[in-house]
Amino acid sequence: MEQGTLEHAKMLDQQDELSRFRSKYHFPQHDGEDCLYFCGNSLGLQPKSTRDALLAELDHWSAYGVEGHFTGDNAWMYYHKLLTPASARLVGAKESEVVIMNTLSTNLHLLMVSFYRPTKERFKIIMEEQAFPSDQYAVESQAKFHGFDPEEAVIEVKARPGEDYIRTEDIEATIKEHGDSTALVFFSGVNYYTGQFFELERITKCAHEVGAIAGFDLAHAAGNVVLKLHEWNVDFAAWCSYKYLNSGPGGPSGVFVHEKHGSDRTLPRFAGWWGHDEESRFKMEKGFIPMQGAQGWQLSNAQVLSFAALKSSIALFDEAGMDALRAKSLKLTNYMEALIDGIEGGDFFKIITPKEQYLRGAQLSMLTKDKIGKALFDYLSANGVICDWREPNVIRLAAVPMYNSFEDVWRFVDLVKRWISENS
Ligand SMILES: *Cc1c(COP(=O)(O)O)cnc(C)c1O
Repeated sequence: MEQGTLEHAKMLDQQDELSRFRSKYHFPQHDGEDCLYFCGNSLGLQPKSTRDALLAELDHWSAYGVEGHFTGDNAWMYYHKLLTPASARLVGAKESEVVIMNTLSTNLHLLMVSFYRPTKERFKIIMEEQAFPSDQYAVESQAKFHGFDPEEAVIEVKARPGEDYIRTEDIEATIKEHGDSTALVFFSGVNYYTGQFFELERITKCAHEVGAIAGFDLAHAAGNVVLKLHEWNVDFAAWCSYKYLNSGPGGPSGVFVHEKHGSDRTLPRFAGWWGHDEESRFKMEKGFIPMQGAQGWQLSNAQVLSFAALKSSIALFDEAGMDALRAKSLKLTNYMEALIDGIEGGDFFKIITPKEQYLRGAQLSMLTKDKIGKALFDYLSANGVICDWREPNVIRLAAVPMYNSFEDVWRFVDLVKRWISENS
């Protein structure tokens, strides 16, 4: 069968062992049909199971009131623990190394309280250029909080002139160059703009060689790529759950603290009652004793409604398996890239995401020239494509293995071709 035809796309869907998961999600509608949804890197689709998961907690509340904390299999008192096993599998961690709490930017600060402890000699933070704004603000404000000038303290690694993404060897060289003065190496797992999947293991190793801490923001990596945080010896990480993990708007964040730090009770931290030793938590006594492991970083009791949504969405990751999802993701993204590369008259855009599949996840970023890109984007939007436009001129597309099909990708590329033929 000829590559690039609709029939071929349909055949690939038939061969896809994960295709049955698509029907477990709600798709926004356009003219009575499912939209072509490529925004799972921004807000994942709603699992059909989520409504019942939320209703169950509302029913629990109406039936038991405050007793809901102690009643039933899902007693709210221990609710965060229900999320631990699946979350740990997702990021390649031991269960004691993971906890679900708060939201992402909040957690980045809490973790930096413990893991960014600058001294006069060692105070720099090395990060990627064009990191997500919240991460830039977090880092900048942390440096200032400790009395350092961010201009001096924050070192950004850039792509080489004429190149679209950052070479790992340049990251390593920068870490070595600032070796004696670097306190923290802090990268995203997958860059939100270019879609580059950083080589976390290599970066961690290099950070440790110079005596620095390695921490990561996995917002675009969790549920997208296979992670082995424990094995890679990562010190800390945090992620959100509403992008690839489909927990709904503002969904909770996950935190990883490597076990080598988890039992260190001397680490400075901002404390709250939910991080206090469980045995004595309700004695309400003075004197904070942190729980062992990542749980010791908790502040507050579980946000049950948003945790319930995550519980239902993460269950589907366990069912599908991250390895199978990644295997499909590689095929789907390679397919999308091949079709986009084959578009005639498509010389006004180019893909800036790395070509090497180990350096990317599901996302492809199309850099477009001039104003044509925005016009194309508007045409796509008017025709039922949901993807996103990032100023100044990038269209981001995520073909998500959990619910996107090869046919989705084919239909998207067909629309791009139509627009080109109508406008040339
Ligand atoms: C999405 C995203 C965030 C969002 O932070 P919230 O606190 O959840 O609003 C932060 N950092 C990165 C890298 C992101 O991609």
